[in-house]
This record gives sequence, structure tokens and C-alpha cells, in this order.
Amino acid sequence: MIIDFHVHISHVDDYLDPLIKNMDLVGIDRAVIFSRNSDVTAEALEMRPERLSGFSFLNPTKGERAVEELERDIGERGFCGLKLGPSVDSFYPNDEKVYPIYAKAQDLQIPVLFHTGTVYRDPKNPGKTKVKYSQPIYLDDVARDFPELILIAAHSGRPFLEQMIAVSHLPNVYVDIAWSQLPLDFYEETVRKMLLAFGPDRIIYGSDTGTRHDSYGADVDRVIKMFKETTNLLNNVIGLDHNSVAKIMGGNASRLLKKTTG
Ligand SMILES: [Zn+2]
Repeated sequence: MIIDFHVHISHVDDYLDPLIKNMDLVGIDRAVIFSRNSDVTAEALEMRPERLSGFSFLNPTKGERAVEELERDIGERGFCGLKLGPSVDSFYPNDEKVYPIYAKAQDLQIPVLFHTGTVYRDPKNPGKTKVKYSQPIYLDDVARDFPELILIAAHSGRPFLEQMIAVSHLPNVYVDIAWSQLPLDFYEETVRKMLLAFGPDRIIYGSDTGTRHDSYGADVDRVIKMFKETTNLLNNVIGLDHNSVAKIMGGNASRLLKKTTG
């Protein structure tokens, strides 16, 4: 099974159909979607449950309200994971004020995907998203304090590859290799280093489609572009064995999404 583990969605109309169409074109079976508006994720899931898995994407600094929101998304709406944006919500992942959300996620046995690494700059509010919150090293505390919780560092923490490697021996830390704001020229180095540090069992493919808030239609092409880029890199440039490629392109994700992928 081929899974794109990292797809943003801000609305359904004129986005969902092209998304599924592009998945079909390259043979992607399932996409993990998330939105700051959970209603949008829920609506998309209702329309294409056989192709989509939904993650809750909430602000964990809201305390008890965030925990209740997560319970509702997982229990009532069929979501199967949690996405967190430390830079978007200005919190350090190891701040104990957000620990209740990890405790709940661990209870629910769902994975938590963290944005790590470089973060976009909102032209209207450049001070809003600071990269200091997105350093992979803060996952060290979380992984040790919640040993049963699966943490996935999105974008492999680019460019903080050393920090990413530093936490790679913690068995509950995974990385996704989704697109980053940084030039794609960093991609090969990233994937090679993650292979050395994490091995093929804890690397997950994702495209990071849907991040261009101004033009979603055009951005849906990233589903195809990143899939081609990544399969070419793994198969032809690095020459990874078929079994390992299959794990990265969907096998590992499928294991973490067991709720929705059967
Ligand atoms: Zn993203």
C-alpha cells in the first residue's frame, strides 16, 4: 500500500477531487489529511473514507479544551492521529503545559506528527511563526516521558539534521520526509542521513501538499512531483532494496494507521 502521510487541506470543493485524481495518477492508495478546521477534515473523510485518513490539528496550549477536542475527533469523527505545529502555536514541544495532550494521545494509542524544521513566514504576521519552537531536540523529553507514544518529526527536521539524528536512537521517534520550505537540493542528503540514523522502518513518505494558501489548485501537483522525486531518489539514486522502499512509501504508515487501513 502506498500512503502519502502529509497533506494539508483547507477546504473540500475544488481541492478534494484534484487531490484524489493526482493520487490515482501515480498510484497512491491513501492520504493523511489535516486542517486547522477539523470540520473540513471530517467533511473530506465522510466523502472519501476509502482514500483518506484524518488527523486532528489543534492548539495544545488550550489545556482541557484541546484534550476534549482530540477525544471528539478520535472518538466521534474517526480521526486516527494528531498533528501539532509548535511554531504555529508558539510552544516548545517539551513544555509541560502541553503534556496533557500527549497523555491523551498515548491513552488513545494514536501517533503524533510534529512540524519540525524551517517554517513558513506569514507576510501579514512575520513574527507569528518562529523556527525556534520547531527544533527536533525538544522531542527528546517527550519521547522519554511518553515511551508508548509514537512521535513523527515532519520534514525530518530540515535543516536540523544533527538534532534529528541525536534523537534517532529513541525507538518511538519516527521521521517523515515531506517537502520542506528549503530547496529540494537538501533532499538527497536528508534522506541518506535519515536512512543511516533511523533505518527504513521509521521513515515515512509524505508530500506536504496543500501548504500554499493562495493557490490550492496549483499546489495539488505536489502529490505527483514529490512522489516521483522520492521514488526516483530511493530506487535509482540511492538504490535501496525493494522491501525498504515499500516500507517507506506506505508500509510503515499503514502500521501506524491500523485503525483506518485495516
Ligand atoms: Zn506540512
